[in-house]
Amino acid sequence: MTAPFPTGTILGYPRIGRRRELKRAVESFWAGRIDAAELERTSAELRRATRGRLVELGLGAADSSIPESFSYYDQVLDTAVAVGAIPTRFAGLADADGAVDLAGYFTIARGEGDRAPLEMTKWFDSNYHYLVPEIGPETEFRLVGDRLVREVEEAVADGFVTRPVVVGPVTFLLLAKASDEAPADFAPLSRLEDLLPVYRELLARLAAAGAQWVQVDEPALVSESLGVDRGAVLAAAQTAYEALGQARPLGILVAAPYGSLDDALPVLQASPIDAIALDLVKGEVPTGAGTEQVLVGGVIDGHNIWRGDLASAFAKLEALRAVSPNVSVATSTNLFHTPHDVDDEPNLDPRLASWLAFADQKVGQVAVLARGLEQGVDAIRTELDAATAALEDRRSAPGVRDGAVRDRIAALGAEAFSRGDYAARRAAQDVALRLPPLPTTTIGSFPQTGDIRRERARFAKGEISREEYEGFLEKEIEDVVALQERIGLDVIVHGEPERNDMVQYFAENLDGFAVTENGWVQSYGSRATRPSILWGDVSRPAPITVRWSTFTQGLTEKPVKGMLTGPVTILAWSFVRDDQPLGETAYQVALALRDEIADLEQAGIGVIQVDEPALRELLPLKKRDQDAYLAWSVDSFRLATSGVEVRTQIHTHLCYSEFGVVLDAIDGLDADVTSIEAARSRMEVVPELERSGFARGIGPGVYDIHSPRVPSVEEVGELIGIALEAIPERQLWINPDCGLKTRGYAETVASLENILSATREARAEL
Ligand code: GLN
Ligand code: ZN
Repeated sequence: MTAPFPTGTILGYPRIGRRRELKRAVESFWAGRIDAAELERTSAELRRATRGRLVELGLGAADSSIPESFSYYDQVLDTAVAVGAIPTRFAGLADADGAVDLAGYFTIARGEGDRAPLEMTKWFDSNYHYLVPEIGPETEFRLVGDRLVREVEEAVADGFVTRPVVVGPVTFLLLAKASDEAPADFAPLSRLEDLLPVYRELLARLAAAGAQWVQVDEPALVSESLGVDRGAVLAAAQTAYEALGQARPLGILVAAPYGSLDDALPVLQASPIDAIALDLVKGEVPTGAGTEQVLVGGVIDGHNIWRGDLASAFAKLEALRAVSPNVSVATSTNLFHTPHDVDDEPNLDPRLASWLAFADQKVGQVAVLARGLEQGVDAIRTELDAATAALEDRRSAPGVRDGAVRDRIAALGAEAFSRGDYAARRAAQDVALRLPPLPTTTIGSFPQTGDIRRERARFAKGEISREEYEGFLEKEIEDVVALQERIGLDVIVHGEPERNDMVQYFAENLDGFAVTENGWVQSYGSRATRPSILWGDVSRPAPITVRWSTFTQGLTEKPVKGMLTGPVTILAWSFVRDDQPLGETAYQVALALRDEIADLEQAGIGVIQVDEPALRELLPLKKRDQDAYLAWSVDSFRLATSGVEVRTQIHTHLCYSEFGVVLDAIDGLDADVTSIEAARSRMEVVPELERSGFARGIGPGVYDIHSPRVPSVEEVGELIGIALEAIPERQLWINPDCGLKTRGYAETVASLENILSATREARAEL
């Protein structure tokens, strides 16, 4: 018999720690400063602190409401190593049973020598990156990793009964790519039947360890952007949950965050599982056939930081009761998309803070709604009213609406979105810039050294004056420019030393944003970002980057590339107001950037890059929402960049590996030069570009900056060769996959030198 499902729960909790303790421990392990045992101790302490905190916030210690959702690096990698899906090139890391230790686990994530790491890509429509499993006919599925089982045991030893969380088999295979060994037409999903027994064994082990419920995450069931036929996805879900539900040793919750299940819901309802978690923030309360299964209403937004409308969240739960007598409340997604705690933000304006809920506050909201479900709405009236009052206060607060910004947008005509004929632009830019064939450049940032971070921290604390700080930055820029000139790069960047983060830097300099101090959110592995909070109408009080770009241009004869972050990316990597359509907010940001670009051009900067690495990430998962998104996102870029003269070269940069669906949109940006990530997938995107007839400048990356590996001259040469087979030489640019800020100088210099050597060889053969 299954234990009852808790009335309130969350789908997962931030795992990096309130002060990024996990990041520090993991990076110390990599650096050899601590050993595996100490890393395990630190992570056990973190998990312990999390369980304790969740009980304080109102979850039950022993009712399976606390998710066991820890990961050292990534939950998809965890699944891969648990089921033995280790690519052949890493087989040597596994022991006789096929298991890898912590060091091996990190090696698969980060690569080593000439063994490239797993590819990394964005997790649904979030800014979290997961590692892409590689599955082929040769993959031997067997349960070799027992970390999750040990975590359940660890909780039990402390008196907890928690709910282990795993990536579901359908999602795991749908997110995987075919291994190097696999034949061309191989689909990882074809291995489902072989994988299911391993999941069955895992569930049995979890139950034996003391778990009463397991949460199986199947976000792939809500997505229509995985490039797989929907019928095949539904059939896989049916097969999987028929198999896992038979004689199940513990309760099975299938969670479907990031959107509505649509036609997958009846499939899950018909299968022998016990509970389904629905995202009722992105999706609607389902109508249709009733069920005895527990429906877990994800009515608290796990992917945003607004306190939101608690009363209407509760109303959704009541509506859900029409479909099942067994309704529980949860967050819509894992809370690892939100920072830990608003109460940990001493410098946030208290009025703004009262509109917000980070992870801990959301757990509190879940606890309130659970009480409402159990005791009736009157028991939570005070909390509902308080949330409603905060929402009303937010609506009328100064800065939320700015008449000048709104008038300017209302007055925009079609000409504000168009730069005119590309041929004329190209001709004018050839004359203005006089670049060699296969021009080389970087994506913008140079290594953010300990020195840079130290000086920034000292400046923030008031230990050094602005003059001293800016003097330091100028020195840094001088070094970076000298380095680029010595290596022979053609279009020079200033290296972005003044930026803590490519979005936060602009947020700090625009009206309408607030920034946090401890609001870290995991981005990938040990990396975290601190998204800004976009709460009001956006405008630019003063020029932001012009001072740095003009300083840099004063140091070199070569063209300097001004460097801005685009509107879509600014939205994607901030927590954005939820009280108006995203497109409206994007236009406001675009106008602020347009002003900045005009000032850069005026100051003599002839090349300006507007980064949009998040264009793909924000793409809605549902086909029905995609066209509208692509229209406003492309238009916001064009609004930002269309004010310049023909001779000014606009670049853009995008980094992710799947371009398919957004290729037309990338073309629609109408940038003169587009740099994209390509090295990590060995130029997979290039044939796609060729087919699409992309006619302007294009720089598919030749250096995977996510890994400390230095690519050899031959390796870069090969990639250039692959690119030249498909892309006319007149269009091809040579650059790394992305910015260099996470790399060290030694590998950066060696890699750029190799890139330039390979480029010179390629030029000689043109
Ligand atoms: N210009 C940015 C940099 O080089 C781009 C970063 C990104 O695409 N994520 O760091
Ligand atoms: Zn990038």
